[in-house]
Amino acid sequence: MATASHNMQVNDFGIDSPHWRNWVGNQSCIRAARGAPAGEDELCAMVRDAAARGLKVRVAGSGHSFTPVALTNGLHLTLSGMTGVRHVDRERRRVTASAGTTINELVRVLKQEGLSMVNQGDIDSQAIAGALTTGTHGTGARLGALASSIVGLRLVQPDGTVLVADETTPDLLLAARVSLGTLGVISEMTLQVADGYRLRERIWREDFETAMERHDELAATHRHFSFFWCMTEASRHCYCLPDTAATSRSGRTTDVCEMKVMDITDDEPFASEFVKVAYSSDVYPIEYIPNFHELEYAVPVEHGKAAVRAVRQLMLDEFPEAIYPIEYRFTAGDDAWMSPFHRQDSVTVSVSGEPGTDYWPYLRAVDRILRGYGARPHWGKLHFLTGEDVTALYPKAGEFRTLRRRLDPEGTYLNDHLAGLFL
Ligand SMILES: Cc1cc2nc3c(=O)[nH]c(=O)nc-3n(C[C@H](O)[C@H](O)[C@H](O)COP(=O)(O)OP(=O)(O)OC[C@H]3O[C@@H](n4cnc5c(N)ncnc54)[C@H](O)[C@@H]3O)c2cc1C
Repeated sequence: MATASHNMQVNDFGIDSPHWRNWVGNQSCIRAARGAPAGEDELCAMVRDAAARGLKVRVAGSGHSFTPVALTNGLHLTLSGMTGVRHVDRERRRVTASAGTTINELVRVLKQEGLSMVNQGDIDSQAIAGALTTGTHGTGARLGALASSIVGLRLVQPDGTVLVADETTPDLLLAARVSLGTLGVISEMTLQVADGYRLRERIWREDFETAMERHDELAATHRHFSFFWCMTEASRHCYCLPDTAATSRSGRTTDVCEMKVMDITDDEPFASEFVKVAYSSDVYPIEYIPNFHELEYAVPVEHGKAAVRAVRQLMLDEFPEAIYPIEYRFTAGDDAWMSPFHRQDSVTVSVSGEPGTDYWPYLRAVDRILRGYGARPHWGKLHFLTGEDVTALYPKAGEFRTLRRRLDPEGTYLNDHLAGLFL
C-alpha cells in the first residue's frame, strides 16, 4: 500500500530551472527567480528582497494541488531545505515542525514518539504547510480537516518580519489555518496530535443502493467511513483500488461502491486480503499515479446522499466515458475562516477527468449539481469558484480579505488565480 515513490515525483525540472510544474502536470509556470532557503532567516531575507524588487512570491509544497495555487512568475520558493521536527511536547501532545516537512516525515517521527496525527488523507507526500492550508482532509464524520489541528504558525511577512499566530491570537489563527500562503510564507507549524493508535481497516464491495441504505449507520458507527463508487469494472484501476470482488455479496462489478471503514484497535498488527491492522500512519495512505485531474467539493452532510446520487446519475446518463470513481468521504465542521468545512459538517464528493481529454463539460456539469447543495470546493482541486461565490459561501470572506490586505497591501503573495478569489 505504500506510496511514496509514485506520489513524491514532482517538478522534474529542478530548482535550477525557470520551469516548474505540479505533480500531475496540469499547472506550470516560468519563474523569474527561485529560492530554496536553508532556514527562517534566509527565507525572510529572500522574501524581503523579492518584495522590495516588486516580485510576487509563492511557495510550492510538494506540488500536489491541481489548481494554480502555487504558481508565480516571480520568486518561487521551495522549502525542501526547511524540513524536520523541531520540538515534541509529549505531555501536551504537540509537535512543531519546519513547514517543508512532508506528512510522511512527520508521522515517522510521531510513531517513534508514540504519537499519531488525529487523521490523515489518502497520501502522505505533501508538505505539511501545503497540505494543511488548502483544507486537506481524510474521512471521519467526527474528525475535522487536518488544518483544525494547527495550534501555531510562523508567517513570514513581505517586509521579512515574522508574524506568530497561535492561541493568543485566535482570529489570526483561524484565518491562517486555511490561507493558501496568502497571509505569509509559513516557516514553521505546531500541530495538536494524538496518542499513538493502531487502525483496523476493512474493505469490501456493496451495490450502490445498499451503500446508500447503510450510509448513516456506517458513518455513525465507525471512526472512518468512505467509499469509491465505480461505474465500470475498469474504474477502480484508474485509482489503483484493490480488487474486492471476492467480498461482494451480489457479485456485481459495475455500478458498485468500494467500501472502507477504519477504527482504532488494540489488536496486534495483522493483514489478510481485505483486513489490515497496523500503526495509524501505515494504514491511511493509498497509492495514486498522476493519471487524473480531480475536482472535489464539500457538501453539507444532510445533502450527501442526494448529491452523490445526482452525480452518479449524471455520469450514467450523460458522461458514460467519465469512468474515474466518485470518492465519497466525511469531514466534521470547523471554525477556520476559509475552510471548506467552515461551520458545516460535510461529505466530500470528488470526480476526475482524464488528462488529455476535454473533461471540462463533465466537471462543469458536476459543479452545477453540487452548487445546488451549497457545496464549497477543495482549494487544491479543480473548481469554478469566482470571487463573488467566495463572498456568498464563506461568512468570514470579508474579514479574511481585510486581514490579507492589511498584511500584504501590495499583493506580494497573490497570483492571478488567488487575486480572483481573495483580493
Ligand atoms: C494523489 C493525490 C492525493 C490527494 N489526496 C488528498 C486527500 O486525501 N485529501 C485531501 O483533502 N486532499 C488530497 N489531495 C490534495 C492535496 O492534499 C492538496 O492539494 C495539498 O494542498 C497539496 O499539498 P502540497 O504540499 O503538494 O502543496 P502545494 O500543492 O505545493 O501547495 C498548496 C498551497 O500551499 C501553499 N504553500 C505550500 N507551502 C507553503 C508555505 N510554507 N507557506 C505558505 N504557503 C505554502 C502553496 O503556495 C499553495 O497555495 C491529493 C492530491 C493528490 C495529487
